[in-house]
Amino acid sequence: MEKLLLFTPGPVNVAENVKAAISKEDICHREAEFDVLLQSVENKLLQLFEIKTISDYRAVVITGSGTAANESMLSSIVGDKNILILSNGEFGERLHKISKIHNKNTFLLDFAWGETLNLEKVEAYLQEHDIDIVAMVHHETSSGMLNPLEKIGALSKENGAMLIVDCVSSTGAEVINMEKCHISFCSNSSSKAVCSYPGLSFVVGRIDEFEKLKDMPVKSTYLNLYNFYHFIKIYSQTPNTPAVPLLFALEQTLINILDKGISNHHASLRDKANTLRQGMLKLGLKFLIDEKDMCCVLTTVKIPLHIDVTSFRQKLREKSIIIYEGKGCFKDKVFQVGNIGELSFDDIQFFLKSLEKVLRSFDPVNIKNITHINASRLIFTPANDEESKRKNFAAQDKA
Ligand SMILES: *Cc1c(COP(=O)(O)O)cnc(C)c1O
Repeated sequence: MEKLLLFTPGPVNVAENVKAAISKEDICHREAEFDVLLQSVENKLLQLFEIKTISDYRAVVITGSGTAANESMLSSIVGDKNILILSNGEFGERLHKISKIHNKNTFLLDFAWGETLNLEKVEAYLQEHDIDIVAMVHHETSSGMLNPLEKIGALSKENGAMLIVDCVSSTGAEVINMEKCHISFCSNSSSKAVCSYPGLSFVVGRIDEFEKLKDMPVKSTYLNLYNFYHFIKIYSQTPNTPAVPLLFALEQTLINILDKGISNHHASLRDKANTLRQGMLKLGLKFLIDEKDMCCVLTTVKIPLHIDVTSFRQKLREKSIIIYEGKGCFKDKVFQVGNIGELSFDDIQFFLKSLEKVLRSFDPVNIKNITHINASRLIFTPANDEESKRKNFAAQDKA
């Protein structure tokens, strides 16, 4: 199969040495080799967060995608206290949904998808209600919006609430200053801007807060956050069988980022995002949100009215390019282009060239084989010779 270029918010194209790391030696997770591996991963995770008082924090690794880390926080931290979820998109809503399952005192302050969190409203809500815990998403992946950690952190602290954050899609791409933003716990994933395979997630948290979880009611066995903390603290292990090969891969990707330098890694993602954005603006495309509010991992682009997203995506796929469709209320309205993982500037130029051709193929004069039109969609079957021409194009472009 031809290599697919994953211009998605994750999964990503992983580095060659990460591919090699996943098939390292076979080890047992109850033996010393694993203790060393988990310690190495934890140390590197804490370095990734550039925590100054590193002895105040720990990172636990959970086998499961980002949602597992979110559910472990939401099922282990709240007890019967009051939690407020701030939401301005799909992933904020998911936090709310998970929290409602585990916590009867779950409150929601929601804003329209793609809108910024209104700080005055957040402040007023916290002043008027007795909230113990605030939960939010850092990078709301469904719109591409980066939410203001530091400001929400300050408001939470002023009002005596603990802050927990879903950093699943921003970790590795943006600065997350847990100390300055007063974050007690945050969740993260291996498969987004950390640039490894999907399947592992991790929670970074303050040791004093981890310790407090000991007396909390247990709402989940597998995702019991205190248990993960207890096991890493006492045994340098995990409570259940971890995905060891994925830990080898995670260790390697963290080595790659730390060797390159965290700020260099962030800067290179920003450069790639900017190159993509400038290129797409040149093609006349419009973005869903303001560039200043965007995270550097992806761009959410409004789909021109005459274009059907599914066939648009299919045409890019024929050029080995994978993009994302919009979710929820953005379905059929936007597409998303990620720039994380092993995507080179050449790959980005190839993407922009391919995108231009695909967009042009939707111009009314170029659509010759329309079989059906309705108000919102154009469904057409390309003739076979057109198909083979496109394949040739793709082959030439890749050469
Ligand atoms: C991807 C993502 C998640 C987790 O999704 P999984 O499918 O479990 O990996 C959670 N929050 C945000 C903001 C995300 O982008």
